[in-house]
Amino acid sequence: MKKKAVAKKPAKTSSAKKTQGRASTTATKTATAGRGRTAKAASNTAARGQGRSAAKRVAPAKAKAATAKKAIRGAVVTGRAGLPANGRVAKSAAAATLRIPRTQHKWVYLFEEGNAQLRDLLGGKGAGVAEMTRAGLPVPPGFTITTEACNAFYTNRRRFPPGMWDQAMQALKHIEKKAGKKFGDARNPLLVSVRSGAKFSMPGMMDTVLNLGLNAETLQGLAALTGNERFALDAYRRFIQLFSKIVLGIDGALFEEALDAAKVRTKAATDADLQPKALRALIDGFKQIVRDRAGVEFPEDPYDQLEQAIGAVFSSWNNKRAMDYRNFNKISHDLGTAVNVQTMVFGNMGDDSATGVAFTRDPSTGERVLYGEYLPNAQGEDVVAGIRTPHPIADMKREMPRVYAEFEKIAQRLEKHYRDVQDMEFTIERGRLYMLQTRSGKRTAAAAVKVAVDMVHERLINRQEAVQRVEPAHIDQLLHTRIDPAAKVDVLATGLAASPGAAYGKAVFDADTAEEWAKRGEKVILVRIETNPDDVHGMIAAQGVLTSRGGRTSHAAVVARGMGKPCVAGAESVKVDLVKRQFTAGGRTIKEGEEFTIDGSTGHVIFGSVPMIEPEISGDLEELLRYADQVRRLGVWANGDYPHDAERARAFGAEGIGLCRTEHMFMEQDRLPVVQRMILSATTEERREALSELLPMQRSDFHGILEAMHGLPVVIRLIDPPLHEFLPSLEDLLVEVTRAEALGRPESEYAEQRRLLAAVRDLHEQNPMLGLRGCRLGLLFPEIIEMQTRAIIEAAIQLKKKKVDVRPEIMVPLVGTVEELRRTREVIDRVAQEVIAESGVKLQYKVGTMIEIPRAALTAGQIAADAEFFSFGTNDLTQTTFGYSRDDAEGKFLLKYVEEKILPVNPFESLDRDGVGRLMGIAVAEGRATRPKLKVGICGEHGGDPASIQVCEDLGLDYVSCSPYRVPVARLAAAQARLATAERDR
Ligand code: PEP
Ligand code: MG
Repeated sequence: MKKKAVAKKPAKTSSAKKTQGRASTTATKTATAGRGRTAKAASNTAARGQGRSAAKRVAPAKAKAATAKKAIRGAVVTGRAGLPANGRVAKSAAAATLRIPRTQHKWVYLFEEGNAQLRDLLGGKGAGVAEMTRAGLPVPPGFTITTEACNAFYTNRRRFPPGMWDQAMQALKHIEKKAGKKFGDARNPLLVSVRSGAKFSMPGMMDTVLNLGLNAETLQGLAALTGNERFALDAYRRFIQLFSKIVLGIDGALFEEALDAAKVRTKAATDADLQPKALRALIDGFKQIVRDRAGVEFPEDPYDQLEQAIGAVFSSWNNKRAMDYRNFNKISHDLGTAVNVQTMVFGNMGDDSATGVAFTRDPSTGERVLYGEYLPNAQGEDVVAGIRTPHPIADMKREMPRVYAEFEKIAQRLEKHYRDVQDMEFTIERGRLYMLQTRSGKRTAAAAVKVAVDMVHERLINRQEAVQRVEPAHIDQLLHTRIDPAAKVDVLATGLAASPGAAYGKAVFDADTAEEWAKRGEKVILVRIETNPDDVHGMIAAQGVLTSRGGRTSHAAVVARGMGKPCVAGAESVKVDLVKRQFTAGGRTIKEGEEFTIDGSTGHVIFGSVPMIEPEISGDLEELLRYADQVRRLGVWANGDYPHDAERARAFGAEGIGLCRTEHMFMEQDRLPVVQRMILSATTEERREALSELLPMQRSDFHGILEAMHGLPVVIRLIDPPLHEFLPSLEDLLVEVTRAEALGRPESEYAEQRRLLAAVRDLHEQNPMLGLRGCRLGLLFPEIIEMQTRAIIEAAIQLKKKKVDVRPEIMVPLVGTVEELRRTREVIDRVAQEVIAESGVKLQYKVGTMIEIPRAALTAGQIAADAEFFSFGTNDLTQTTFGYSRDDAEGKFLLKYVEEKILPVNPFESLDRDGVGRLMGIAVAEGRATRPKLKVGICGEHGGDPASIQVCEDLGLDYVSCSPYRVPVARLAAAQARLATAERDR
């Protein structure tokens, strides 16, 4: 990835950058340590916000402690009563399988008994450690209590199901033997962690208890064993803190406050500076908090601790944040969580201990090198606290060569086993390496592509798998300039992410200024309330566009996407003042000429200019897209109005033009006056005259695009939008004429304005989107269609004479009845045949229609009789199916609908499968019943959206058509859709 620093890029050395990256990686890794800190802030706020008195806080905590005890005690009666208290258990554990009486259900799996396939039963984490254990990797021994046990816990009135505790005890004996330590043993204590682990990762939603098994006695043992009293006391302090909060339900802020007070008292800068004396006092203080708040003594018996912790993890499956997370991510509530009980290992037991995290390949470049960091004599928390800077993993090679070699080997094995980049956590305890976790490594877009292609070359995965390894969003990122992720940004407002990519430039408030300033070499961003075709030349000149009104299918969004320029649309909190030539947002005012940045991939409007990363299409990307082409069934075409769009689309792999919107060409400055004359003509003759002036211009447009797409189909759509869009605004004219009248100016001076006003008033509609547009316009003024058809056919014939392979397809918009299409078609065919006959050249052309009105979809069987192809205009079809105005809905209520989950997604962005998709399904089936070879595509904005592409694949469309810059994304998404369908059918 080529980085290009632009204005105000903060000077940063690459090593500084690396450090930053490392710190954040480790921050994720050491979630446990980090959580304490975050939780503190959160609970402080909560306590303050609720204004609850300390006395009031006692009650729930006491109740929770009591309930936990009661529940668990109930289990103890059933459970421990049946546990053999002698060596028989140890013997069975040694066989690495639990002995379960035939009458009992199996609730507990040793890590040795599980595997990666048992995710449903053991959860993601349990299945992961089991797989590593089975592979013979050094995993701290442990066992998993199944998700079934969690569900049984709930049906059993929050008691452990019969037999579960026995099995857990058996498993504990097994890990004691493997670890060479004993649970609760004063001289050689085994400590465990108790963690939740559901089928799907639910980051930070449920609870983890560490260092369980410590009490006043085992604490001495741990101190003696490690020769480090401070370490042991600190472990005990952490355990009490976590257990009290999670299991006893005591407000975690109380412990954080006591910890802070101890640091202030002893002048300790960080937790690590607390000395044994202070830690001892803190532990006493913690136990007092437990007495005061929960009305119980902190449990000394390690078995009691374990029972309660397992119960608490089960209970945490249904805590509010976990439920909210599942609701949001559509995860079923009845999956349950597994509980993992695992031997604790410590990376802070001296200079031969360490903790670290590493990737099997560089996650930012994809390069095949071990990438990561480690910190000797430390726990992850030390890294988060920023006390010490972690060392690059390469240093470990020098400092701990034997362990490094072992780790390197394991990393390779894991990658080979999982056939993907692994993100691994490890701890070295006194020279012994332990693998704590391995999972698929997150990676940047560039790395994702490189790794996928490299792994095909290494024969680790096949081409189809490579296609599935890269997210379509990755491709999108690689094709657009984006903000350097390391840059600090000051976001002023957020609008719709309407066209991806980022840009900075000077604010300009009209299209002419944009053009003028750009001509003198300035970078500008065009800011408008909304754009219309008059602004196109300014959009061409600008780096990007910001509008405060309009949705994803607004003019600004559609045109910017077509041009591949960033656009933030409908940023309603941006107050644009076109008179003062400034906008205000986020408490700042940006005046004309001042620089700001937009990020069309996130919708952010940002203060000042920020460093950018330029896109680069690598050879790897080309190769990956070739794999995608071998897999996909759907064709990928592009929407484009100009020859340069067509050329770009072809270069990106488009197989046709699926939509050429002819009206965009009418907007060019030299044409607009002719177009206006044509609209305002009093007679057909006048109109024909204006149209004859437009004819050569349109012919040359079509000539260019047909030539650029030689050998491939080009779908040219006849004029669609309401005519008033080409005329001056009604409001402006009204103001002008009224002012002239009021000032008593001679009538002759404003006669022209008055005539225009009358004409514009005449054409004015309350609801132009549902008014005189599309085929309705052509049926009222057939001479427009005649001119356009002539221009298309003449251009095609000119090229044909030059032996260019041209394939024009004429498309009729907004058809709702077959009669509309039939009559329009009569005009098209008549003119086309005339022109062909005049030329004496043989030319094939097709006539088809857009399906963008529900009635068209529902009567597609009739319409197909007159259409050689259908193209779904899902912008209008979504608008008319939902009854939402595509211009207003996103700015007014739609985003709120999505936020509040009234709608799962914005239907203008991602096809509504149930409603719009159903209409499409009817149209495909009934259209093809009439005309089996009917070609069906989509040219609405959904054509470039991966989820919508899946719908198109499922509906059996022939192709999708999207903006040229989305073509590569669509190629990959179409291949993935194909593979997903094939997988489902299997
Ligand atoms: C559509 O409606 O989906 C379409 C492609 O046409 P337009 O956006 O020009 O109305
Ligand atoms: Mg449309």
